[in-house]
Formats: sequence, C-alpha cells, structure tokens
Amino acid sequence: MKEQGMLVIISGFSGVGKGTVIKELMRRYDEYFFSVSATTRSPREGEVHGREYLFLNEEEFQQLIEENRLLEYAGYTGCHYGTPADPVKREREAGRHVLLDIEIQGAFQVKKACPEALMLFLLPPSAEVLYRRLVNRGTETMEKIHKRMARSAEEAAYIDRYDGILVNENLDVCVEQLHQIIHNPELAAKYKKENRMAAGTLQKEIEKLLEEKGE
Ligand code: 5GP
Repeated sequence: MKEQGMLVIISGFSGVGKGTVIKELMRRYDEYFFSVSATTRSPREGEVHGREYLFLNEEEFQQLIEENRLLEYAGYTGCHYGTPADPVKREREAGRHVLLDIEIQGAFQVKKACPEALMLFLLPPSAEVLYRRLVNRGTETMEKIHKRMARSAEEAAYIDRYDGILVNENLDVCVEQLHQIIHNPELAAKYKKENRMAAGTLQKEIEKLLEEKGE
C-alpha cells in the first residue's frame, strides 16, 4: 500500500499570490494535487469552473453542507468557501500531497479534523505591495479591496498558530521553500522563526495603510 500523501494548508492574505505559487509548484513537480474548493463568489475573468473553483449558488453550497460533503467551510467577505472532502481523501490515499488554499477559519477546522496537516502562511513583502497587487489585479472594486485588506489585518493576529511562515517576495524562492518544507516539515519552524516578526510588522502596516486610504 502506498504511503498516504500529506495534507498541506496554504493560507495567506488576499493578493499575496497563493494561486500563482501553487500553480508553479504543481508545474514543477507532479506529486501534488490542488484541492478545488467550492465557492459562492462569481468567477473572475479567466477562471474556469472545476479548475480554480467549483462555482456554486448558495443553494448548491448549502446542499454540500447538509450532505456532509465538505471537510471545512467558512464565510469570507460575503461569500462561502469550502473544501470538498472526497477528492482530498482519494488523492492522499493515492500518495499525492494535497494542497489546500484556504483562509484561517477553514485552516483551523482542518487542523482539528486532521491534526497531521501542515499549516503554512504566505506573507507579502509589504502592505504596500499587497495593496498594489490587489489594485493591479483589477478583479475587485475598491470597496472589496478595502474589505479584503481589513480581513488581512484581522487574520494577521492568528499567523503565529501556523507551523510555518513564508514570504512571497520572489516566486522561484518561495516555491522551492514550500517544496522543501513539505518534504522536510521540520523546516517549517525554521522559516517561522525567520519570518514571524514580519507578520507583526505587516499587521501594523496594513492597519496604517487602511487608515490612510480612509477606512
Ligand atoms: P478568493 O476569492 O481571493 O479566491 O479567495 C478568498 C479567500 O478564500 C482566500 O483567503 C482563500 O484562501 C480562501 N479560500 C478559498 N477556498 C477556500 C475553502 O475551500 N475554504 C476556506 N475556508 N477558504 C477558502
């Protein structure tokens, strides 16, 4: 029987580039499986149903909850997001490492259900970079961008409960660090130690930036 694959939670502020990091990790190595979440938010340009997300309406999402088919779910700036349980189980049993791109509430639910899960948090190099990435992405209104930044400031308080903290300044470096940690989870603590100060600084930077932008 194959050894079970790992369950890797990757959280990070909106706009930090989690999607890009995960796509690049999967392009480089074939041992990973990306868990496609269900969501009630509308697709962004270029997003494909079944690839980035399963785009559902509220009724369909509630049905998944009722049928107990989600490993976790949470609300995020007015929409629902959840992880379908079956593919996670199937792929881990096939020996692949399963990557979950989920926010903090969901991350803690998964950790409770699967204590062996590795929890990693991705940080941007600065609040300004995060803000610019969200604005340049052009997929959200300014109101939504401010909501997402405010949520980031709230989330920052919980980063210390993650096993590892990485800074996504350079895509190549970040992808390789992630790959290394998954193969040697003890490295998570090393990167956490290196980057935990950055998390505290970022929280203050985000709050200041929101004040300046009139939030
Ligand atoms: P976005 O709308 O930018 O794609 O995602 C918004 C937030 O929802 C991100 O922090 C992302 O990690 C999180 N998210 C995506 N899928 C899931 C999920 O299945 N469960 C939870 N709890 N969060 C998710």
